[in-house]
Amino acid sequence: MPGLTERLLYRVAKRWIAGYTLEDAIKVAHDANNRELRAILNRLGEHTPDQKLIQSYTEEYLKLLDRIRAERIEGTISVKPSQIGLAANPTLYNSNLRGIVEKAETCDEFVWIDMENSPYTEATIRSYSEIFPSYPRLGVCLQANMKRTESDLKDLLPRGGIVRLVKGAYPENAEVAYKKRSDVDANYLKLMAILFEQGDHFGIGTHDGKLIDKARILSQDYKRDFEFQLLKGIRDDVKPNLVKEGYRVSEYIPYGPEWYNYSKRRMRERKRNILLLLRSITG
Ligand SMILES: Cc1cc2nc3c(=O)[nH]c(=O)nc-3n(C[C@H](O)[C@H](O)[C@H](O)COP(=O)(O)OP(=O)(O)OC[C@H]3O[C@@H](n4cnc5c(N)ncnc54)[C@H](O)[C@@H]3O)c2cc1C
Repeated sequence: MPGLTERLLYRVAKRWIAGYTLEDAIKVAHDANNRELRAILNRLGEHTPDQKLIQSYTEEYLKLLDRIRAERIEGTISVKPSQIGLAANPTLYNSNLRGIVEKAETCDEFVWIDMENSPYTEATIRSYSEIFPSYPRLGVCLQANMKRTESDLKDLLPRGGIVRLVKGAYPENAEVAYKKRSDVDANYLKLMAILFEQGDHFGIGTHDGKLIDKARILSQDYKRDFEFQLLKGIRDDVKPNLVKEGYRVSEYIPYGPEWYNYSKRRMRERKRNILLLLRSITG
């Protein structure tokens, strides 16, 4: 039985996650599809060197792919490298990623790779570069707060790389990352322009109204196969409008007992979420 603090936090976190189990995730994916949103399912969990856990996360993604196909869910999965082996050893990670991508290929599904904090960036991009030429239905997340991203993007796009662009969720130091919000936003704009100019398939992963508006404008000039991607429970007002305007929109839906760290990130992004938490305690 979870303690009181965990239960109170969970009440707030529930808006951002599907629940504890794969069944919860499948149900919320159907709900998203009913709202004409595609689903991107992510089993929470990261930074694990534990081989048994790595194995079980990897197997869970294979099960998710089966269920997505069997239940004709419009959607896909997104995996965290350090959850399927990168925190243990890169060879194990590569082999697990290949297993997932091969399965996805037999199910005719797409796979996204999340981007984690900077110690994992190089290895994540290297393995993506190695694997995607054989499995074109594979995409990787790049972060606008990272100084190296422009160069990564310009390297991947001409080779057919598929990118989800986000601002970046992890605290990083000034050597590798832009620290000021305005610098991150300016870099996002610059990178998004490169995506529309040079990319074909890509994801615009943001809730920032100004950036979404800019993508709307760019999409008039460049007819690209892109989609907007937003997190479950954030800017639910914007999602139906984008759908009505004819854009493809995906909702990223995390689930699993490891919801606490994920929820802390969402709290950090917006002070008002702390109020939600306090209200859940007092109300
Ligand atoms: C589909 C998707 C996948 C992602 N994958 C990754 C990944 O692999 N690696 C990674 O580092 N990061 C990832 N992120 C997170 C991303 O890096 C940002 O941390 C997050 O999206 C917040 O940035 P923003 O672009 O929404 O802009 P912000 O400037 O943070 O927010 C813009 C506006 O959006 C709304 N908003 C944003 N966050 C919240 C919130 N928590 N609660 C309520 N309202 C909010 C507010 O109205 C805010 O003013 C992903 C994000 C999305 C949407």
